[in-house]
Amino acid sequence: MSQKVLVPWAMPKIGIETLRMAKVEPVSIHGPKGEPPSLKEIIEGVRNADVMLPRGTQRIQREVMLANPNLRGIANYGVGYDNIDTASATELGIPVTNTPEILTETTADLAWALLMAMARKIPQAHRHTIAGQWKGFGGKSFMGLDIGPGGSNRRKVLGIIGLGRIGMAVMRRSRGFRMRVIAYDPYKKETVGKMRGVEYRELDNLLKKSDFVTLHCPLTEETRHLIGRRELNLMKPTAILINTSRGPVVDERALLLALESGKIAGAGLDVYEEEPQITPGLLKLDNVVLVPHIGSATTDTREQMAIMAAKNAVAMLKRKRPANIVNPEVFESPEYFRKLEGKRGVGSKAV
Ligand code: NAP
Repeated sequence: MSQKVLVPWAMPKIGIETLRMAKVEPVSIHGPKGEPPSLKEIIEGVRNADVMLPRGTQRIQREVMLANPNLRGIANYGVGYDNIDTASATELGIPVTNTPEILTETTADLAWALLMAMARKIPQAHRHTIAGQWKGFGGKSFMGLDIGPGGSNRRKVLGIIGLGRIGMAVMRRSRGFRMRVIAYDPYKKETVGKMRGVEYRELDNLLKKSDFVTLHCPLTEETRHLIGRRELNLMKPTAILINTSRGPVVDERALLLALESGKIAGAGLDVYEEEPQITPGLLKLDNVVLVPHIGSATTDTREQMAIMAAKNAVAMLKRKRPANIVNPEVFESPEYFRKLEGKRGVGSKAV
């Protein structure tokens, strides 16, 4: 009987082909238009699978893992893995993998696209133009913010929260704009201190000083609502907030109030607290640009993510250490070894 990988969403074809080429059977479940399956369907599917390959926004909780005591791995399609209860996975002896690096540049591009769109009021100006409301050059419409030094020759301050792979790629792009870059990342304090072209700041100071604040930390218990009412109140009234990390890093209701009352000038958002729901008031504002979680959405990057996730899935089936393991401590879990013993002889060599 061939080994099965449950793919509970419409994965790019190349990912499915990668599984087939490794002689693994992909079991895709989704609606005719790519609608995601229900939790019940996922649980049914996982019972008959050896590994599962969810996309990064599908919540994979303990009850899904418990549906199959022999589940050998979860290959997440996405670098963020806050959707997976990794503590339970480790305890239950299930390795979890993600897809880092390959989406770094693409996501950094989107953060910059949102920043530039907000600074220069591109969506507002576009709506105005296509509505036939343009009456000619001049006037005070669509006065934006400089990203580069501008007429006053003042270097703008870019505040990066989370200076990991994507945060660094965002920083690299700022060089062409001659910005001053400051960063907050409690786990990289020393490293940032030694880097050229960036100054370390504690969170409150970064918020007070930045013209643009961009979020690139993972969603953890520590970063949930990292940006709330208090933090938004610290920002400049002219400042713009960009979020391409995870929705719950920002308290969306507090953000709505800050944008409505002019506490901050604008926000560019790719991610939301309860996707695909968006706090309704945000949809009515003119000082936002909202896109539907498209940080990694280029054909090239999404295909590479699919290949990487599929290869991780195959490695876990073949009992090889996957390249992108996020819970390496699983290899010390007694449950993991119980599974290896129980399945000895099915795959190739053990880890
Ligand atoms: P990364 O390389 O792990 O970078 C995240 C950085 O944030 C790390 O330096 C991390 O430190 C730091 N960090 C952890 N806790 C923090 C805190 N409390 N405050 C400030 N910084 C903190 O990850 P990445 O590849 O850059 O991706 C970052 C996040 O972007 C992902 O987790 C994902 O949620 C999101 N993302 C979104 C999209 C999208 O489609 N919108 C696409 C890709 C990624 P440590 O390494 O020490 O933990």
